[in-house]
Amino acid sequence: MIPSPLPPDFIPFNRPHLVGPELEYIRQAVAAGKLSGNGMFTQRCQQFFEQQYGIPKVLLTTSGTDALEMAALLLNIRPGDEVIVPSYTFTSTANAFVLRGARIVFADSRPDHPNLDVTRLEALITPRTRAIVPVHYGGQPCDMTALLALARQHNVWVVEDAAQAIEARLQNRPLGTLGHLAAFSFHETKNLSAGEGGMLAVNDPELAARAEIIWEKGTNRAAFARGEAARYEWVDVGSSFLPSELNAAYLWAQVEARGIIQRQRQRLWETYAAALAPLAATGAISLLPTLPDSQPNWHLFALLCTSETERDALLAYLRQQHILAVFHYLPLHCSPYYAARHDGRPLPHADRFGWTLLRLPLYHDLQPEQQHRVIEAVRTFYETR
Ligand SMILES: *Cc1c(COP(=O)(O)O)cnc(C)c1O
Repeated sequence: MIPSPLPPDFIPFNRPHLVGPELEYIRQAVAAGKLSGNGMFTQRCQQFFEQQYGIPKVLLTTSGTDALEMAALLLNIRPGDEVIVPSYTFTSTANAFVLRGARIVFADSRPDHPNLDVTRLEALITPRTRAIVPVHYGGQPCDMTALLALARQHNVWVVEDAAQAIEARLQNRPLGTLGHLAAFSFHETKNLSAGEGGMLAVNDPELAARAEIIWEKGTNRAAFARGEAARYEWVDVGSSFLPSELNAAYLWAQVEARGIIQRQRQRLWETYAAALAPLAATGAISLLPTLPDSQPNWHLFALLCTSETERDALLAYLRQQHILAVFHYLPLHCSPYYAARHDGRPLPHADRFGWTLLRLPLYHDLQPEQQHRVIEAVRTFYETR
């Protein structure tokens, strides 16, 4: 079957973009004669984030999922270990630890925001708890001060899922630098993209040497290449977590242009926020709050409907207007895979975000007239309801 072409006025949810030299950098990577991992562009990206954010060791990965899987390997997560994860998140936050045999203990969201509710975290910690994985939803920070204090008190690891949080800050400190480890994503839908890509931030220097080994298939290749090991050999468990230089070259162009990318996202985000504030003031919809002490990265623009039926009707209406909006996560404690394994605690706030949250198109090349059409369509839906 030949897929029917999209209508010419269709507004997608997301769209990849070029900010400038992506294709030139890919050409340079080919010319340099090395397309496998850990070449010139990979090292440029890694050194940039190490210096810019003050991270002891950064490793590019083929995805944010891979960075989370590396974290689970590095922390020696084993069957029977418990890992606390918000239910309102992407599968990989939990799956990376499930792969190592962990039992996932789901945390509920805050009443006002999808982030996990740190005020109700301590009740979930048991002697088997090995790690807590806070997700900074939409680049808005979890309450890391309280979370880190609890983790220290109970001697558990903290792995930030910073997949959506690049360039966002809490009290002027970059998200992804606060836990022992952090995973970032450079998936096509994230602020900075390599198509598929990710990065592990190793904030605890004691984990750095082993992280590099796990990254390179369990070998000491990186240390050997620096002349620090006499032989190149298999020394630990690991897998193939390195991205190709093709991806790193594309990513480097986006990293260099992050200022332009972030300003454009901010402009689009603020346009939505200003245009939809009157509708929110009537109570027809609500908008997510900006959390205290945070410097946002404008990763996504979400609105909350008053019911699932209304949310689905709005999605269908926008679709009729050739606009692709999407809902976000179905809470993981209700998922076909994990529901029977969940301990049965109700998680009402995660449920509510699952049923009522809707994300509007937000991408670099979204044109002002397109954004205007999206805003008008949302307004019209509520005016005619
Ligand atoms: C995107 C995302 C991931 C996964 O990242 P990939 O690069 O797509 O593997 C994990 N967690 C969260 C919260 C995400 O938004």
